[in-house]
Amino acid sequence: VIRRIAIVGSGMAGLSAALLLQEQNHEVTIFEKSRGPGGRMAAKRVAGGSVDIGAQYFTIRNPAFSAFLNRYAEGSFRPWPGRFGYQTTSGQWEPFPQETRYVGAPRMTAITRGLSTAADVQAQTRIYSLVRQGQQWLLNDTDGESYGPFDAVIVTAPPAQTRDMFSNSRLTALSDQMQDHVSHIQPCWATAVYFRQALEQPYDGMRCQNPILDWIANNSSKPGRDDSGQWWVLHATPQWSREHENTSADKVSAAMIEAFKKVTGVTVCPDDWISHRWLYAKSSPTEQPGFRWYGDQRIGLAGDWLSGGRVEGAFNSASGLVAHMLAD
Ligand code: FAD
Repeated sequence: VIRRIAIVGSGMAGLSAALLLQEQNHEVTIFEKSRGPGGRMAAKRVAGGSVDIGAQYFTIRNPAFSAFLNRYAEGSFRPWPGRFGYQTTSGQWEPFPQETRYVGAPRMTAITRGLSTAADVQAQTRIYSLVRQGQQWLLNDTDGESYGPFDAVIVTAPPAQTRDMFSNSRLTALSDQMQDHVSHIQPCWATAVYFRQALEQPYDGMRCQNPILDWIANNSSKPGRDDSGQWWVLHATPQWSREHENTSADKVSAAMIEAFKKVTGVTVCPDDWISHRWLYAKSSPTEQPGFRWYGDQRIGLAGDWLSGGRVEGAFNSASGLVAHMLAD
């Protein structure tokens, strides 16, 4: 009988799996290596507020996702009534098709904070390996602490971290299976730039054709932000980010700011900026196995990388896994 379950990772996938399992009276503990929950639905504190440096917005197409968010995180997310455009290969700007784009308010992490209030999250605990104890699992962290026993483990870390955990656990077959997915995850350099004087731009979110940047957004146009001036978020292309994986943040931000000025025609320099490197940012949207459940070992895998590479995909992956585990 599966009663106590450990979950590695407190992003959208881990939190969704935890809350859905708790609804079925399972006892769940989430282990998270960072200081707080949220994973890639991240915000960085900056002077005067915070800026979303990971996921920019998300869709709510699945009615179950809508019901889930309203049940556990009501009031923490709102539609972003921004103007969205993309650049054609000839350089022209076109408006994006209408779709409701949601964001956390007043920052992206508000949602995962909301979800985590109903979950047991053990933060600042990086899981190193899983150790068999009879039919159950113990989890060891990188400080040598041991937790458990648990009847099942759900891992929601990105493929490279999941592979390492399996390999440290001598779960060679599982670790080998992860290898394929690791190379599909792209890095992303993110730079947030601050302008004391608001910029005049035709769009608040822009998908651009540029060798360095593929997305720029006016973070201050999102609901619930009351910045004086404007914070903009710039995301570098996967290819450029890969090529500059080991370049210093100073050099990266300088190049990204130059590219931003070129794309937008802005001539003034930002008054402040901050860069963040995501080693495992985005996966291929074509990967759709949903989730993985290794019934013999009672190990499950969930995460955006198994279900389209986005926030809503992370929920879909977790809810699919939980439904499967309950039926198994
Ligand atoms: P994560 O959020 O990565 O959660 C995994 C968690 O596991 C993390 O908190 C991590 O710290 C933890 N962890 C890892 N290893 C361990 C360990 N050994 N022990 C303990 N904890 C561990 N999606 C959209 O829908 N729209 C967007 O506009 C969008 N833009 C994006 C832009 C960027 C720059 C990035 C980085 C992502 C973007 N995404 C976007 C993707 C979106 O953020 C992800 O799809 C979603 O947040 C993934 O959730 P997850 O729970 O699967 O994984």
